[in-house]
Amino acid sequence: MGKTKKSNLSKIFSIFILIFIVASIILLITNKETTKSIITKYSYNDNVLASENPPAGLSVSKTPQFIIFGFDDNSYSGLEGSNGTGGMNWALDLFNSKTNPKGSNNNLTYDGEKIKASFYVCTRYIATWMSESPVYVKKIWRAAYETGHEIGLHSHNHKHGDKFNTSQWEYEIQKTIDNLTKPFDPKEKISNPDNKKGIGIPRETLISWRTPHLEFNNNTFVALKNENIFYDCSMEEGWQEDQDGTNYLWPYTLDNASPGNEILVTWNAKAPIGSHPGIWEIPVYTLIIPPDDKCMEYGAEPGLRKKLHDLRPFFDEIDGKIVGFDYNLWVIFKMTKAEVLASLKYTLDLRLKGNRAPFTFGAHTDYYSSKYYSDKGSKNDEILANTKERQEAFEEFIDYALSKPEVRIVSGQQFLNWMRNPVPLNDNMKTANN
Ligand SMILES: [Zn+2]
Repeated sequence: MGKTKKSNLSKIFSIFILIFIVASIILLITNKETTKSIITKYSYNDNVLASENPPAGLSVSKTPQFIIFGFDDNSYSGLEGSNGTGGMNWALDLFNSKTNPKGSNNNLTYDGEKIKASFYVCTRYIATWMSESPVYVKKIWRAAYETGHEIGLHSHNHKHGDKFNTSQWEYEIQKTIDNLTKPFDPKEKISNPDNKKGIGIPRETLISWRTPHLEFNNNTFVALKNENIFYDCSMEEGWQEDQDGTNYLWPYTLDNASPGNEILVTWNAKAPIGSHPGIWEIPVYTLIIPPDDKCMEYGAEPGLRKKLHDLRPFFDEIDGKIVGFDYNLWVIFKMTKAEVLASLKYTLDLRLKGNRAPFTFGAHTDYYSSKYYSDKGSKNDEILANTKERQEAFEEFIDYALSKPEVRIVSGQQFLNWMRNPVPLNDNMKTANN
């Protein structure tokens, strides 16, 4: 009797173990796309100097040309019923339909994988009914997460924070995390948003931060470490006089502050920051507007630099540098589709001719939505290109970039994984520098 009971028990136990193993395998397979690129633990021990050279002594010709698109805010879902099209939904359709060059099918250099983006979100859009039901916004952010894109933090309230103390920054960071990690409910009612529901993102996948309005101070970075966020993408690089788009500094840790930011501090444009050991910086690199002798080749009218200088005298016609954000191109400089496309292509080609420092571009999915204000007429003078043209510039640039065998379009998180464990492109691959 006792023996039968025991063997029954062990049978039950074995079945239980079997179920557990099968379930684990299923989970592993279904989560492959989202978990592969995640750094879950970080002890802030990396110490990487800003350098013109690719990491780990890799030769330039074997280094992938990474492109990292980081979209901020992300308030318009573009989903049916949301009273708008484009926006986040446009970005997901675009990114989910393209793959990186196939290289040698090495997943350590993301060969042949779907291209990825980073979405730095402001959680007020899922906590408050603004332009549309927060439920639409939750659904589309969740879809981005499920298809392997990075969700990063861009604060809850999107306030001007250049005078914030550490606890004000911590509040913004923690509130964003709290909202993102609340459970996701696919059945949440559009008409009745539930503040106890979020998008169900595991805390350990949230590792990144971009500060609202690119405004930060030293306290921002103290708070990031206290909140266990370990890469920032708010600082600019490339304004140094001896840098021309072919020799930008590779991403670095903030052990020795930020060389790019120090230039802006001397111009009274940014707050100084001190040493913040181990926090990674993936900078906003300056774009370069094509000079006159290159305009035609890239599809723009010669005289573009002079045109931009006439509009905004702070633009330097000699170096042609401009902040690497879509806001600066479309809104501040009122550029056309052809001008934006030419500038993106020209900037990428400089990288490929040079040291292949990653190409980062800051953008806003909201600008690619039918809801963007400039299309409504009242502020039409602020922007020349319409929504469709803005979308086309982006789409055509991505196609151009993916025609280059060295290019890999990745999320910031994927890039950081590679940067911490650099792997060369396949030796037999034909590249522009060979
Ligand atoms: Zn923003």
